[in-house]
Amino acid sequence: MVYTVLAFQGLRLIDVFDSPRKVAGEESYFPTYPKVNLKMSINIEEESSCGMVAARRLTDQRLMDLNRLGVSMETDRVRARLWISLPIDPEREILVILPIWHSGTPYSVSDGTIYHNGEPFANVKKIEFDDAVHTYVRAGGKVLTMNTNARSFCTGCAFCHYSLEKSEDPPVRQEGELELLLDLYLAEQNWSDYSAVERIGLSTGCFKTELHATSHLIVLRNALARRGFRGTLQLLSSVVRSRESLAKIVNEAGPFHLTLTTECLERRDMLLKDSKASLRRNDMTRLLEIARKEGAGCDFTYIVGLDDLNEVESELRDMSSAVTQFPKFQVFQPHAEFMKRLRHSTAADTTYYSAFRDKVTSWFVNRELRPEHWQNYRSLWYYEFGGAEFNGGIV
Ligand code: SF4
Repeated sequence: MVYTVLAFQGLRLIDVFDSPRKVAGEESYFPTYPKVNLKMSINIEEESSCGMVAARRLTDQRLMDLNRLGVSMETDRVRARLWISLPIDPEREILVILPIWHSGTPYSVSDGTIYHNGEPFANVKKIEFDDAVHTYVRAGGKVLTMNTNARSFCTGCAFCHYSLEKSEDPPVRQEGELELLLDLYLAEQNWSDYSAVERIGLSTGCFKTELHATSHLIVLRNALARRGFRGTLQLLSSVVRSRESLAKIVNEAGPFHLTLTTECLERRDMLLKDSKASLRRNDMTRLLEIARKEGAGCDFTYIVGLDDLNEVESELRDMSSAVTQFPKFQVFQPHAEFMKRLRHSTAADTTYYSAFRDKVTSWFVNRELRPEHWQNYRSLWYYEFGGAEFNGGIV
C-alpha cells in the first residue's frame, strides 16, 4: 500500500510568500471602503466617528461577503485555503477556505493580495489547495482532524465539494491500516506520541450506520490510547442517535464530543444524503440534550444560506440552548454553477447573513460560549461579537 496519501498541507503549497507583503495603501484601508459597491459600505465621515468596534463589525461583514462570493484566481482547482491578515489587525492571521471562480466575484487574488474590485482588501500569506486528506492539524497542533473513513468516497449531499475535488484519502478499512496511519502521522509531525494533542476530530460523514460509527470510534480510541492520547474524541456525524450508542461511546471511547451535522432544516430530503436527511428536524434538540446528559460535549454544524431564517429561527435557538460549545454556523459556499441554485431565495445578499449573525449573537451574548476560529473557517464572526472586540484565537 502506498501511503503517498500523507500529502499534508505543506506538500500542497502552491505559493508561499517569505513574509507578509504589505498591502499597498494599507494606512488608507478604511478610507477605501466607500469605493466598495456593497450594501454595508459606509462613507468616510461615518467611519471617522464609528469607532473600532464598528470598524470591526464592518470588517466581519466584508469577510462574510468574501466567504459567500469566493475569489477568482489562476487555477483549475475549485477551492483553496488562504492564510490572510487584514489591516485592522495586521498581526493576526486568519484562515479562510474559499470557492474559486473565474468570474462573478468582485474578489480576486494576485501578487500576495486579495483585491475587492481592484482595491487591496487583505494580505495573503499562504495558499493551499483544499483536498480531502487523511489528517491535518488545527489550533497550533493541539487539535487534529482525521479523515479515517475516506470522506472523498462520500457522496449524496447536494452542496458537497468533495465530489468535485481530487482526493488523497483512500479508505482505511483494517485496524492494522489505521495503526499504520497513526504511526506515519507521528513520524510526519516528528512527534513521539499523541499525548500533547487535546482533541481529535473525525471529519467524515461517511459512516452509514450508528453501529459502524460506534465501533470505529472505539477502535480508534484504543489505537490512540496505545500512543499516548488522553484527550477528547470528536465525531462530526448525524448517524449516532440512540441513548445506548451515545452511552457506549462515552464509556468506551470517551471523553467524547458529538458535533451533530444538521446542515439545514428545510429541504433536507433534497439537499442531504439519506443517512443525514433521515434525522428529522424536531429530533435535533432532544438528541443534543441526550448527548449532554450521557456525558458528551455537543454542538452542531449549520450552513447559513440554505433556509429561510424566519422559518428556522425558533428551532435553531432551541438547539443552541442545548450545546456545550459554540455551534459551527458556516457561510454557504457553492462550488459549481448548479450549486448556486441551492441557496435559499431569501439569502441572496449580505442582509440575510448580517441578520442571521445578529440573531445568533443575541442567543449567546450572555453565555460564555464564543466562536473559535479553528472550529470554523467560514464563520460569521472574526473581529466583533455582541458589540465588543472579539478574537477567535489561533487557527
Ligand atoms: S456527509 Fe455530505 S457533506 Fe459530508 S462528506 Fe459526505 S457528501 Fe459531503
